[in-house]
Amino acid sequence: MAHTADVVIIGAGIVGSSVAYHLTEAGCKNVLVLERETRQGLGSTGKSMGGVRAQFATDVNIGMSLYSIPFFDRFEEATGHPSGYKAHGYLFMATRPSHMEYLRANRERQVALGLKGVELLEPGDIVRMLPQLRADDIVGGSFCPTDGFVDPHLVMSGFMARALECGATLWREAEVTGIEVDGDAVAGVRTTQGPVATRTLVNAAGPWASRVAQMAGVDLPVEPLRRMLVPTEPFPGLPEKLPMVIDMSTGFHFRREGVGLLLAWADPDETPGFKTSFDPAFIEKILTHAANRVPCFAELAVNPKRCWAGMYEVTPDHHAILGPAPGVRGLFLANGFSGHGVMHSPATGRLTAEWILYGEPRLLDARLLGAGRFAAGRLLEETAVL
Ligand SMILES: Cc1cc2nc3c(=O)[nH]c(=O)nc-3n(C[C@H](O)[C@H](O)[C@H](O)COP(=O)(O)OP(=O)(O)OC[C@H]3O[C@@H](n4cnc5c(N)ncnc54)[C@H](O)[C@@H]3O)c2cc1C
Repeated sequence: MAHTADVVIIGAGIVGSSVAYHLTEAGCKNVLVLERETRQGLGSTGKSMGGVRAQFATDVNIGMSLYSIPFFDRFEEATGHPSGYKAHGYLFMATRPSHMEYLRANRERQVALGLKGVELLEPGDIVRMLPQLRADDIVGGSFCPTDGFVDPHLVMSGFMARALECGATLWREAEVTGIEVDGDAVAGVRTTQGPVATRTLVNAAGPWASRVAQMAGVDLPVEPLRRMLVPTEPFPGLPEKLPMVIDMSTGFHFRREGVGLLLAWADPDETPGFKTSFDPAFIEKILTHAANRVPCFAELAVNPKRCWAGMYEVTPDHHAILGPAPGVRGLFLANGFSGHGVMHSPATGRLTAEWILYGEPRLLDARLLGAGRFAAGRLLEETAVL
Protein backbone atom coordinates (compact mmCIF):
# COMPACT_ATOMS: atom_id res chain seq x y z
CA MET A 1 0.00 0.00 0.00
CA ALA A 2 1.26 3.47 -0.86
CA HIS A 3 2.51 5.73 1.91
CA THR A 4 -0.01 8.50 2.71
CA ALA A 5 0.38 12.03 4.05
CA ASP A 6 -2.06 14.87 4.71
CA VAL A 7 0.33 17.29 3.04
CA VAL A 8 3.33 16.55 0.80
CA ILE A 9 5.88 19.31 0.21
CA ILE A 10 8.23 19.04 -2.79
CA GLY A 11 11.60 20.62 -1.89
CA ALA A 12 13.34 21.00 1.47
CA GLY A 13 14.95 24.40 0.85
CA ILE A 14 14.14 27.37 3.07
CA VAL A 15 10.61 27.68 1.62
CA GLY A 16 9.58 24.02 1.93
CA SER A 17 11.05 23.99 5.45
CA SER A 18 9.08 27.09 6.46
CA VAL A 19 5.85 25.64 5.07
CA ALA A 20 6.48 22.42 7.07
CA TYR A 21 7.17 24.47 10.22
CA HIS A 22 4.06 26.64 9.89
CA LEU A 23 1.81 23.64 9.14
CA THR A 24 3.02 21.65 12.16
CA GLU A 25 2.81 24.72 14.43
CA ALA A 26 -0.83 25.09 13.33
CA GLY A 27 -1.53 21.47 14.31
CA CYS A 28 -1.21 19.69 10.95
CA LYS A 29 1.27 16.94 11.83
CA ASN A 30 1.15 14.38 9.00
CA VAL A 31 3.40 16.40 6.72
CA LEU A 32 5.95 14.75 4.43
CA VAL A 33 8.77 16.76 2.83
CA LEU A 34 10.43 15.24 -0.25
CA GLU A 35 13.97 16.31 -1.15
CA ARG A 36 15.81 14.73 -4.04
CA GLU A 37 19.30 15.61 -2.76
CA THR A 38 21.25 13.82 -0.03
CA ARG A 39 20.97 16.89 2.19
CA GLN A 40 19.16 20.21 2.47
CA GLY A 41 20.50 23.48 1.07
CA LEU A 42 21.89 22.33 -2.29
CA GLY A 43 19.39 24.50 -4.22
CA SER A 44 19.19 28.31 -4.13
CA THR A 45 19.05 28.55 -0.35
CA GLY A 46 22.66 27.47 0.14
CA LYS A 47 23.83 30.04 -2.45
CA SER A 48 22.00 33.07 -1.07
CA MET A 49 23.46 36.35 0.17
CA GLY A 50 21.06 36.26 3.13
CA GLY A 51 19.88 39.87 2.81
CA VAL A 52 16.57 40.78 4.48
CA ARG A 53 14.80 44.09 3.98
CA ALA A 54 11.45 45.80 4.22
CA GLN A 55 12.49 48.62 1.85
CA PHE A 56 10.31 47.49 -1.06
CA ALA A 57 8.04 49.35 -3.47
CA THR A 58 4.83 47.31 -3.28
CA ASP A 59 2.46 46.79 -0.36
CA VAL A 60 2.53 43.03 -0.63
CA ASN A 61 6.34 42.76 -0.54
CA ILE A 62 6.52 45.27 2.33
CA GLY A 63 3.81 43.30 4.16
CA MET A 64 5.67 40.01 3.69
CA SER A 65 8.79 41.62 5.20
CA LEU A 66 6.85 43.16 8.10
CA TYR A 67 5.98 39.63 9.22
CA SER A 68 9.26 37.99 8.26
CA ILE A 69 11.91 40.32 9.75
CA PRO A 70 10.46 40.39 13.31
CA PHE A 71 10.08 36.62 12.92
CA PHE A 72 13.83 36.29 12.24
CA ASP A 73 14.44 38.42 15.33
CA ARG A 74 12.47 35.98 17.54
CA PHE A 75 13.39 32.88 15.52
CA GLU A 76 15.24 31.18 18.36
CA GLU A 77 12.29 31.69 20.72
CA ALA A 78 9.92 30.26 18.08
CA THR A 79 11.99 27.32 16.82
CA GLY A 80 14.69 26.73 19.43
CA HIS A 81 17.38 27.39 16.80
CA PRO A 82 19.32 30.57 15.81
CA SER A 83 18.68 32.52 12.58
CA GLY A 84 21.89 34.56 12.56
CA TYR A 85 19.80 37.74 12.13
CA LYS A 86 21.97 40.86 12.14
CA ALA A 87 20.13 44.20 12.08
CA HIS A 88 22.86 46.12 10.24
CA GLY A 89 20.42 47.89 7.92
CA TYR A 90 20.21 48.45 4.16
CA LEU A 91 21.63 51.70 2.79
CA PHE A 92 20.32 52.72 -0.65
CA MET A 93 22.48 55.43 -2.27
CA ALA A 94 20.81 57.59 -4.93
CA THR A 95 22.72 59.31 -7.72
CA ARG A 96 19.76 60.82 -9.60
CA PRO A 97 16.78 62.93 -8.51
CA SER A 98 14.49 60.20 -9.90
CA HIS A 99 16.08 57.72 -7.45
CA MET A 100 15.24 60.07 -4.58
CA GLU A 101 11.63 60.47 -5.73
CA TYR A 102 11.40 56.71 -5.85
CA LEU A 103 12.91 56.25 -2.36
CA ARG A 104 10.64 58.99 -0.97
CA ALA A 105 7.48 57.40 -2.43
CA ASN A 106 8.56 53.96 -1.17
CA ARG A 107 9.28 55.31 2.31
CA GLU A 108 5.80 56.88 2.54
CA ARG A 109 4.29 53.52 1.62
CA GLN A 110 6.53 51.62 4.08
CA VAL A 111 5.74 54.02 6.96
CA ALA A 112 2.00 53.91 6.19
CA LEU A 113 2.15 50.12 6.49
CA GLY A 114 3.86 50.35 9.88
CA LEU A 115 7.61 50.14 9.17
CA LYS A 116 9.53 52.02 11.83
CA GLY A 117 12.92 53.69 11.58
CA VAL A 118 13.20 53.99 7.79
CA GLU A 119 14.74 57.40 6.99
CA LEU A 120 15.73 59.46 3.98
CA LEU A 121 19.37 60.60 4.13
CA GLU A 122 21.36 63.61 2.94
CA PRO A 123 24.67 62.97 1.14
CA GLY A 124 26.53 64.08 4.29
CA ASP A 125 24.73 61.43 6.40
CA ILE A 126 25.86 58.77 3.97
CA VAL A 127 29.49 59.85 4.00
CA ARG A 128 29.45 59.79 7.80
CA MET A 129 28.22 56.18 7.64
CA LEU A 130 30.86 55.15 5.14
CA PRO A 131 33.69 57.74 4.77
CA GLN A 132 35.50 55.58 2.17
CA LEU A 133 32.79 56.22 -0.46
CA ARG A 134 33.23 58.31 -3.59
CA ALA A 135 30.27 60.58 -2.94
CA ASP A 136 30.58 63.37 -5.53
CA ASP A 137 27.49 62.15 -7.45
CA ILE A 138 25.42 61.00 -4.46
CA VAL A 139 22.25 63.08 -4.04
CA GLY A 140 20.85 61.24 -0.98
CA GLY A 141 19.59 57.86 0.07
CA SER A 142 17.51 55.85 2.49
CA PHE A 143 18.31 53.60 5.43
CA CYS A 144 16.28 51.18 7.51
CA PRO A 145 18.01 49.86 10.65
CA THR A 146 15.96 46.65 10.99
CA ASP A 147 16.93 45.47 7.50
CA GLY A 148 20.07 43.33 7.49
CA PHE A 149 21.05 39.68 7.06
CA VAL A 150 20.28 36.19 8.25
CA ASP A 151 22.14 32.91 7.81
CA PRO A 152 19.93 31.13 5.21
CA HIS A 153 21.28 27.67 6.10
CA LEU A 154 20.57 28.17 9.80
CA VAL A 155 17.04 29.43 9.10
CA MET A 156 16.28 26.52 6.76
CA SER A 157 17.60 23.87 9.14
CA GLY A 158 15.97 25.56 12.15
CA PHE A 159 12.56 25.53 10.45
CA MET A 160 13.01 21.89 9.47
CA ALA A 161 14.36 20.72 12.84
CA ARG A 162 11.38 22.21 14.63
CA ALA A 163 8.92 20.77 12.09
CA LEU A 164 10.47 17.31 12.55
CA GLU A 165 10.25 17.67 16.34
CA CYS A 166 6.54 18.46 15.88
CA GLY A 167 5.79 15.37 13.78
CA ALA A 168 6.74 16.16 10.17
CA THR A 169 8.85 13.68 8.15
CA LEU A 170 11.69 14.42 5.72
CA TRP A 171 12.71 11.97 3.00
CA ARG A 172 16.10 12.72 1.45
CA GLU A 173 17.11 11.28 -1.94
CA ALA A 174 13.39 11.20 -2.79
CA GLU A 175 12.92 12.85 -6.16
CA VAL A 176 9.37 13.51 -7.29
CA THR A 177 9.08 12.12 -10.82
CA GLY A 178 5.35 12.52 -11.39
CA ILE A 179 2.13 13.95 -9.95
CA GLU A 180 -1.07 11.87 -9.98
CA VAL A 181 -4.18 13.88 -10.78
CA ASP A 182 -7.62 12.31 -10.33
CA GLY A 183 -10.11 14.33 -12.39
CA ASP A 184 -9.13 17.88 -11.46
CA ALA A 185 -7.63 17.05 -8.03
CA VAL A 186 -4.24 15.94 -6.73
CA ALA A 187 -4.20 12.26 -5.75
CA GLY A 188 -0.51 11.68 -5.02
CA VAL A 189 3.07 11.75 -6.25
CA ARG A 190 5.46 9.23 -7.74
CA THR A 191 8.94 9.34 -6.23
CA THR A 192 12.23 7.48 -6.53
CA GLN A 193 11.30 5.95 -3.15
CA GLY A 194 7.84 4.83 -4.23
CA PRO A 195 4.38 6.40 -4.52
CA VAL A 196 2.80 8.64 -1.90
CA ALA A 197 -0.96 9.25 -1.74
CA THR A 198 -2.03 12.76 -0.76
CA ARG A 199 -4.77 15.27 -1.51
CA THR A 200 -2.59 18.30 -0.73
CA LEU A 201 0.70 19.04 -2.44
CA VAL A 202 3.01 22.07 -2.16
CA ASN A 203 5.42 22.98 -4.93
CA ALA A 204 8.48 24.42 -3.13
CA ALA A 205 10.98 23.35 -5.78
CA GLY A 206 12.80 26.70 -6.13
CA PRO A 207 14.36 27.18 -9.60
CA TRP A 208 12.89 23.81 -10.69
CA ALA A 209 9.32 24.90 -9.85
CA SER A 210 8.02 25.10 -13.40
CA ARG A 211 9.24 21.54 -14.15
CA VAL A 212 7.38 20.28 -11.08
CA ALA A 213 4.22 22.25 -11.96
CA GLN A 214 4.36 20.80 -15.46
CA MET A 215 4.03 17.29 -13.94
CA ALA A 216 0.47 18.33 -13.02
CA GLY A 217 -0.10 20.06 -16.36
CA VAL A 218 0.28 23.57 -14.88
CA ASP A 219 2.26 26.24 -16.76
CA LEU A 220 4.27 28.29 -14.28
CA PRO A 221 6.22 31.32 -15.53
CA VAL A 222 9.27 30.80 -13.28
CA GLU A 223 12.70 30.92 -14.92
CA PRO A 224 16.09 30.14 -13.39
CA LEU A 225 18.57 33.01 -13.73
CA ARG A 226 22.21 32.71 -12.67
CA ARG A 227 23.50 35.12 -10.00
CA MET A 228 27.15 35.22 -8.97
CA LEU A 229 28.66 36.29 -5.65
CA VAL A 230 32.25 37.32 -4.98
CA PRO A 231 33.66 37.05 -1.45
CA THR A 232 36.89 38.97 -0.84
CA GLU A 233 39.94 38.23 1.25
CA PRO A 234 40.11 40.07 4.63
CA PHE A 235 39.65 43.83 4.22
CA PRO A 236 40.13 45.83 7.43
CA GLY A 237 39.19 49.46 8.01
CA LEU A 238 35.46 49.49 7.23
CA PRO A 239 32.84 50.18 9.95
CA GLU A 240 32.20 47.11 12.14
CA LYS A 241 28.42 47.37 11.68
CA LEU A 242 28.47 47.86 7.92
CA PRO A 243 24.96 47.78 6.35
CA MET A 244 24.14 46.23 2.98
CA VAL A 245 25.24 49.14 0.75
CA ILE A 246 23.47 49.54 -2.61
CA ASP A 247 24.77 51.82 -5.35
CA MET A 248 21.60 52.67 -7.27
CA SER A 249 23.58 53.93 -10.28
CA THR A 250 24.76 50.38 -11.12
CA GLY A 251 22.98 48.00 -8.73
CA PHE A 252 26.38 46.99 -7.27
CA HIS A 253 25.95 46.08 -3.59
CA PHE A 254 28.07 44.67 -0.81
CA ARG A 255 28.07 43.66 2.81
CA ARG A 256 30.51 42.36 5.35
CA GLU A 257 31.24 38.62 5.33
CA GLY A 258 33.43 37.74 8.29
CA VAL A 259 36.60 39.84 7.99
CA GLY A 260 36.11 40.34 4.25
CA LEU A 261 33.25 41.53 2.05
CA LEU A 262 30.63 39.83 -0.10
CA LEU A 263 30.11 41.60 -3.44
CA ALA A 264 27.05 41.28 -5.70
CA TRP A 265 25.88 42.71 -8.99
CA ALA A 266 23.26 41.62 -11.53
CA ASP A 267 25.04 41.22 -14.86
CA PRO A 268 22.57 42.56 -17.46
CA ASP A 269 24.05 40.14 -20.05
CA GLU A 270 22.99 37.08 -18.04
CA THR A 271 20.36 34.91 -19.78
CA PRO A 272 17.88 32.44 -18.19
CA GLY A 273 18.88 28.78 -17.84
CA PHE A 274 20.03 26.13 -15.39
CA LYS A 275 23.56 27.50 -14.96
CA THR A 276 25.47 27.22 -11.70
CA SER A 277 29.11 27.43 -12.80
CA PHE A 278 30.99 30.57 -11.75
CA ASP A 279 32.39 32.63 -14.64
CA PRO A 280 35.83 34.03 -13.64
CA ALA A 281 35.37 36.94 -16.09
CA PHE A 282 32.69 38.25 -13.70
CA ILE A 283 35.35 39.17 -11.12
CA GLU A 284 36.85 41.95 -13.20
CA LYS A 285 33.42 43.35 -14.06
CA ILE A 286 32.30 43.53 -10.45
CA LEU A 287 35.62 44.86 -9.16
CA THR A 288 35.36 47.73 -11.67
CA HIS A 289 31.99 48.75 -10.17
CA ALA A 290 33.40 48.26 -6.66
CA ALA A 291 36.46 50.48 -7.15
CA ASN A 292 34.39 53.09 -8.96
CA ARG A 293 32.14 53.55 -5.91
CA VAL A 294 34.68 52.93 -3.12
CA PRO A 295 38.16 53.88 -4.38
CA CYS A 296 40.02 51.83 -1.75
CA PHE A 297 38.26 48.74 -3.13
CA ALA A 298 40.89 48.85 -5.90
CA GLU A 299 42.98 46.98 -3.27
CA LEU A 300 40.44 44.16 -2.79
CA ALA A 301 41.87 40.67 -3.22
CA VAL A 302 39.68 37.87 -4.54
CA ASN A 303 40.33 34.13 -4.71
CA PRO A 304 38.27 32.87 -7.69
CA LYS A 305 38.00 29.43 -6.06
CA ARG A 306 35.90 30.92 -3.24
CA CYS A 307 33.39 32.60 -5.59
CA TRP A 308 30.10 30.90 -6.40
CA ALA A 309 26.96 31.04 -8.52
CA GLY A 310 23.36 30.06 -7.84
CA MET A 311 19.99 30.64 -9.45
CA TYR A 312 17.25 33.17 -8.79
CA GLU A 313 13.72 31.87 -9.54
CA VAL A 314 12.37 34.75 -11.59
CA THR A 315 8.79 35.64 -12.57
CA PRO A 316 7.76 38.21 -15.22
CA ASP A 317 6.84 40.83 -12.55
CA HIS A 318 9.50 39.90 -9.98
CA HIS A 319 6.89 38.92 -7.41
CA ALA A 320 6.37 35.49 -5.90
CA ILE A 321 3.61 33.15 -7.06
CA LEU A 322 1.64 31.90 -4.04
CA GLY A 323 -1.58 30.03 -3.40
CA PRO A 324 -3.70 27.42 -5.21
CA ALA A 325 -2.60 26.35 -8.69
CA PRO A 326 -5.24 27.15 -11.31
CA GLY A 327 -7.10 24.05 -12.50
CA VAL A 328 -5.65 21.45 -10.09
CA ARG A 329 -7.37 21.21 -6.72
CA GLY A 330 -5.01 20.50 -3.83
CA LEU A 331 -1.86 21.83 -5.54
CA PHE A 332 -0.35 24.90 -3.85
CA LEU A 333 2.45 27.08 -5.21
CA ALA A 334 5.24 28.75 -3.21
CA ASN A 335 7.50 29.83 -6.04
CA GLY A 336 9.18 32.56 -8.06
CA PHE A 337 10.68 34.71 -5.32
CA SER A 338 12.89 36.63 -7.76
CA GLY A 339 15.71 37.13 -5.25
CA HIS A 340 13.60 37.44 -2.08
CA GLY A 341 12.91 33.83 -1.10
CA VAL A 342 15.07 33.84 2.01
CA MET A 343 13.74 37.10 3.42
CA HIS A 344 10.12 36.19 2.66
CA SER A 345 10.32 32.54 3.77
CA PRO A 346 8.52 33.10 7.11
CA ALA A 347 5.56 34.93 5.53
CA THR A 348 5.42 32.40 2.67
CA GLY A 349 5.27 29.47 5.08
CA ARG A 350 2.56 31.10 7.13
CA LEU A 351 0.43 32.13 4.13
CA THR A 352 0.74 28.71 2.48
CA ALA A 353 -0.26 26.96 5.72
CA GLU A 354 -3.28 29.30 6.01
CA TRP A 355 -4.37 28.61 2.43
CA ILE A 356 -4.14 24.85 3.05
CA LEU A 357 -5.80 24.80 6.48
CA TYR A 358 -8.35 27.64 6.24
CA GLY A 359 -8.84 28.01 2.48
CA GLU A 360 -7.62 31.62 2.47
CA PRO A 361 -4.55 33.71 3.33
CA ARG A 362 -5.12 35.52 6.64
CA LEU A 363 -1.78 37.17 7.48
CA LEU A 364 -2.22 39.60 4.59
CA ASP A 365 -4.10 39.70 1.33
CA ALA A 366 -1.74 37.64 -0.79
CA ARG A 367 -4.39 36.68 -3.35
CA LEU A 368 -2.91 39.14 -5.80
CA LEU A 369 0.17 36.86 -5.87
CA GLY A 370 -1.96 34.09 -7.40
CA ALA A 371 -0.72 32.38 -10.57
CA GLY A 372 -3.86 33.56 -12.40
CA ARG A 373 -2.55 37.13 -12.54
CA PHE A 374 -0.43 36.46 -15.63
CA ALA A 375 -3.30 35.20 -17.80
CA ALA A 376 -5.51 38.02 -16.44
CA GLY A 377 -2.85 40.66 -17.19
CA ARG A 378 -2.77 41.85 -13.54
CA LEU A 379 1.00 42.00 -13.13
CA LEU A 380 2.59 43.75 -10.17
CA GLU A 381 5.50 46.15 -10.51
CA GLU A 382 8.41 45.75 -8.09
CA THR A 383 11.32 47.89 -9.10
CA ALA A 384 13.36 47.46 -5.91
CA VAL A 385 14.86 44.18 -7.16
CA LEU A 386 18.45 43.31 -6.27
C1 LIG B 1 23.45 34.27 -5.49
C2 LIG B 1 22.11 34.40 -4.83
C3 LIG B 1 21.90 35.41 -3.87
C4 LIG B 1 20.66 35.53 -3.25
N1 LIG B 1 20.50 36.50 -2.30
C5 LIG B 1 19.31 36.59 -1.64
C6 LIG B 1 19.16 37.53 -0.58
O1 LIG B 1 20.07 38.30 -0.27
N2 LIG B 1 17.96 37.54 0.07
C7 LIG B 1 16.93 36.72 -0.26
O2 LIG B 1 15.87 36.78 0.36
N3 LIG B 1 17.05 35.82 -1.27
C8 LIG B 1 18.21 35.74 -1.96
N4 LIG B 1 18.36 34.82 -2.96
C9 LIG B 1 17.19 34.03 -3.37
C10 LIG B 1 16.95 32.88 -2.42
O3 LIG B 1 18.14 32.17 -2.20
C11 LIG B 1 15.86 31.97 -2.98
O4 LIG B 1 14.73 32.74 -3.36
C12 LIG B 1 15.42 30.93 -1.95
O5 LIG B 1 16.54 30.24 -1.45
C13 LIG B 1 14.43 29.96 -2.56
O6 LIG B 1 14.21 28.93 -1.63
P1 LIG B 1 13.42 27.64 -2.08
O7 LIG B 1 13.31 26.79 -0.86
O8 LIG B 1 12.19 28.04 -2.81
O9 LIG B 1 14.36 26.96 -3.18
P2 LIG B 1 15.64 26.00 -3.04
O10 LIG B 1 16.52 26.39 -1.93
O11 LIG B 1 16.24 25.92 -4.41
O12 LIG B 1 14.98 24.62 -2.66
C14 LIG B 1 14.26 23.85 -3.60
C15 LIG B 1 14.54 22.39 -3.30
O13 LIG B 1 13.69 21.59 -4.12
C16 LIG B 1 14.39 20.42 -4.47
N5 LIG B 1 13.74 19.83 -5.63
C17 LIG B 1 13.60 20.36 -6.85
N6 LIG B 1 12.93 19.53 -7.66
C18 LIG B 1 12.61 18.43 -6.92
C19 LIG B 1 11.93 17.21 -7.19
N7 LIG B 1 11.43 16.95 -8.39
N8 LIG B 1 11.78 16.30 -6.19
C20 LIG B 1 12.30 16.56 -4.94
N9 LIG B 1 12.97 17.68 -4.65
C21 LIG B 1 13.13 18.61 -5.61
C22 LIG B 1 15.80 20.93 -4.73
O14 LIG B 1 16.76 19.90 -4.64
C23 LIG B 1 15.96 21.99 -3.64
O15 LIG B 1 16.60 21.49 -2.49
C24 LIG B 1 19.59 34.65 -3.59
C25 LIG B 1 19.80 33.65 -4.54
C26 LIG B 1 21.04 33.50 -5.14
C27 LIG B 1 21.25 32.41 -6.14
